[in-house]
Amino acid sequence: MATTAAGQLRDQVSGEIITAEDPGYEEARKVHNAMIDRRPRVIVRCAGADDVVAAANFARENELDLAVRGGSHSVPGFGTADDAVVVDLSGMQAVDVDPETSTARAQGGATWRVFNDATHAHGLATTGGIISTTGIGGLTLGGGIGYLSRGFGLSCDNLSSAEVVTAEGEVLTASERANEDLFWALRGGGGNFGVVTSFEYRLHPVREIYGGPILYELDDAASVLRFYRDFIRDAPEEFGGFPAWQIAPPLPFIPEDRHGEPFLIFVTCWAGPIEEGEAALAPLREVAPVVAEHVGPMPYPALNSAFDDLVPAGLQHYWKANFVKELTDEAIDAHLEHGPKLPAVNSTVHIYPINGACHRVAPDATAFAYRDATFATVIAGMWPDPAQNEDNIAWVRGFYEATAPHSEEGGYINFMAGDDQDRIRVNYRGNYDRLADVKRKYDPDNLFHLNQNIRP
Ligand SMILES: Cc1cc2nc3c(=O)[nH]c(=O)nc-3n(C[C@H](O)[C@H](O)[C@H](O)COP(=O)(O)OP(=O)(O)OC[C@H]3O[C@@H](n4cnc5c(N)ncnc54)[C@H](O)[C@@H]3O)c2cc1C
Repeated sequence: MATTAAGQLRDQVSGEIITAEDPGYEEARKVHNAMIDRRPRVIVRCAGADDVVAAANFARENELDLAVRGGSHSVPGFGTADDAVVVDLSGMQAVDVDPETSTARAQGGATWRVFNDATHAHGLATTGGIISTTGIGGLTLGGGIGYLSRGFGLSCDNLSSAEVVTAEGEVLTASERANEDLFWALRGGGGNFGVVTSFEYRLHPVREIYGGPILYELDDAASVLRFYRDFIRDAPEEFGGFPAWQIAPPLPFIPEDRHGEPFLIFVTCWAGPIEEGEAALAPLREVAPVVAEHVGPMPYPALNSAFDDLVPAGLQHYWKANFVKELTDEAIDAHLEHGPKLPAVNSTVHIYPINGACHRVAPDATAFAYRDATFATVIAGMWPDPAQNEDNIAWVRGFYEATAPHSEEGGYINFMAGDDQDRIRVNYRGNYDRLADVKRKYDPDNLFHLNQNIRP
């Protein structure tokens, strides 16, 4: 039935239709996390909003699951499913920047690389993720944490409007002035409410930043983490760096005999005046002896893609996450126990600061509720060999179990695993019931259920 119908769909869309009979199917069904091995019924590589409407109608009318994919970075693999219709937005990446109004309108499948390159040409940027291959879609809808969060808020805080294809196949605008309830829910509520075919963002004057990674000995990790928790409380908001557990990759700025060893690193980013960068980062050079560093002025998109090679497509992924208000001595002890045991060079643990501008948004002003958390921690297990899945997943779980008692109940939905669905309600705190109301209004039959799902 649906194979014939897929043929009809071919006549309705201007983008590409890919089924198991097509030669590109094996490649087209891959997502970033190679642990996800699913065989969708049809992949619709959409060319515009009309194609998204046709795909949503097709899924609904044929009672097929609908998966939505932008940058395909979802760790639980929400961008695909067996037997599903996949709305693949990777062909929709146009970005138009208006330097007069400091805004950018980007199609729903753009990656941060395309977005940052377009805005950088005008000396402008907005908060995005730290890896350039991540999609703006999934990242923004879940919140959006990156180097610029302390200064300019989350990515979703910089969203000024969105064009949305609903479960009924309607094309709506959501903003402060139109479909306000939908706009509220899109900012943190994930892909639950429709397919966003274009996002409009506010931009800020950021061209060059001063930053890069600094490596410390494991013996100094406690001092660096203790320094960080105090420093970040009142650090200027132009400072957007974070500490990370990381095995040293074979890079020229790291002494060769230290490659492959675990370190506590600090990824620094000063987005204020470049000439103030060195002084702004001085405390980090003073807190402990520096083993190696690669810090200096660089274009913002350069820092944003500096770590892309550590996370190529095709790795196995398993992640866990928590929000943290206080990085207590006990929490630091748990980090010191588990951080140095990183099992793979691709794996990492980041303690992102989300205070500053993120705290100036009221917890009920957008769907993203944790406006009082100082940090968002991600334990990102990433490794190449499926034979090592058990060990790597055990490391992530062990780290998570040790730090969870010192963290908030909720975690950032974009960093959470597929087995974290029971934490969705606590993640949204008091906003959950309102999100469920919006879900009932725009997607009463839960067409958009392949996500960290808010049930209607
Ligand atoms: C290597 C890596 C680095 C990351 N770094 C960061 C980071 O620095 N900061 C951060 O905040 N997060 C980061 N993340 C997490 C990231 O925010 C989520 O994985 C997010 O879901 C990725 O979005 P995507 O569009 O690439 O993913 P996809 O897998 O394409 O999409 C994930 C889900 O988001 C929804 N979605 C995506 N696009 C749309 C759209 N246009 N309309 C409606 N729904 C949509 C759908 O439900 C979809 O299933 C990172 C993830 C990875 C793997």
